[in-house]
Amino acid sequence: MGRHSLDSVCVFCGSSDAADPQFLSAAAALGRALAQADLKLVYGGGGVGLMGATARAAHDSGGRVLGIIPDFLVGKERALETVEHIVVSSMHERKIMMFERADSFVVLPGGIGTLEEIVELLSWRRLDLHAKPVVFYNPRGFWDPLFALFQHTVDEKLTPPEFMQAWTSVEAIEDVIPTLLGEGASDDAEDERRVAGLS
Ligand code: AMP
Repeated sequence: MGRHSLDSVCVFCGSSDAADPQFLSAAAALGRALAQADLKLVYGGGGVGLMGATARAAHDSGGRVLGIIPDFLVGKERALETVEHIVVSSMHERKIMMFERADSFVVLPGGIGTLEEIVELLSWRRLDLHAKPVVFYNPRGFWDPLFALFQHTVDEKLTPPEFMQAWTSVEAIEDVIPTLLGEGASDDAEDERRVAGLS
């Protein structure tokens, strides 16, 4: 795959059904937009919260969806059996497979699980282990406290200032895919080689 041609998007997002209904409807809008753009959704495999909303909307709109879920979460996160899915044996296996199967990333509002996933993704970027684009959907400044914490580590000279360019943030869900496509895809083979040391 050459630069600027994305085929798949990994979406990291919350599993809570109690989230702001606007977040849930934005997740569904993203799912539809991924299908329309013929971008394959790679996600955590659950049927709950923003995860389920994104995946169901993508699938119902004729899009390609791949869920990756650890066996112990199949019941708890109500795995969507209607879409292509892979059952793995651990969280680590899930995360590395989500990384490998996607050539770009979108982050929607989420909780501690989402935070864990994106901090690792950005830390790999910080170590130059990949150059896959990352776009945050940041409705009503949801992610601003996290960005402020990152900036704090830069101000304290614990993180290089260039790290603040490791992602793009947008406020409107319609801007997510155009922004992702504008960022382009990195060279797959090179990313595979770089990340080989991670698993
Ligand atoms: P949350 O944002 O807490 O609703 O979690 C979002 C998703 O992240 C859920 O599917 C969690 O199972 C998943 N998650 C939580 N911790 C991890 C982890 N260490 N590795 C991979 N996925 C995780």
